[in-house]
Amino acid sequence: MTRITPLLERNEQFARDYTAPALGLPAAQLIVVSCLDHRVDPAIVLGLRLGDAPVIRNAGGRVTPAVIEDIAFLAFLAGQLFGGQLADALFEVAVIHHTQCGTSFLADPGFRDQAAAATGVPAAALEASAVTDPHVTVKADVERLLASPSIPPTVSVSGHVYDIATGRVTTTVDAQSR
Ligand SMILES: [Zn+2]
Repeated sequence: MTRITPLLERNEQFARDYTAPALGLPAAQLIVVSCLDHRVDPAIVLGLRLGDAPVIRNAGGRVTPAVIEDIAFLAFLAGQLFGGQLADALFEVAVIHHTQCGTSFLADPGFRDQAAAATGVPAAALEASAVTDPHVTVKADVERLLASPSIPPTVSVSGHVYDIATGRVTTTVDAQSR
């Protein structure tokens, strides 16, 4: 018995009625970037079903170099596999930050220094990853993604904030491409 045992039982239920989705473009033609926080699961918050949208999650839902690499690869892959089916718009990347984000503790210098010592991540990098005002950081991350030369102009980017208190997502930056 490990902690995953009850979840494996849920999976057993899930697999009973399962039909494998065909390989195709994500049905929503969307990629979601969001925080890894267990209170903000995009599948539940946005009602995503299997095959709807790739989801990239990290602390804060920040647009890091690793996230940019993943999106550039997904754009390349979609072009290779489905280029013929696509018009000029490949997909939209929806960046979602949220209120009460745990990364906001990193705005405190004492906490940040302790975190840097414990994790080996430079304090400046931790400071840059903090989401204290999600409306501000999501806007900065949309701009960072749009400014990246590895993201093709067929990819549009939008920015949103999820409010943990209400369960509501509001749009801060409408979809735009470079
Ligand atoms: Zn968070």
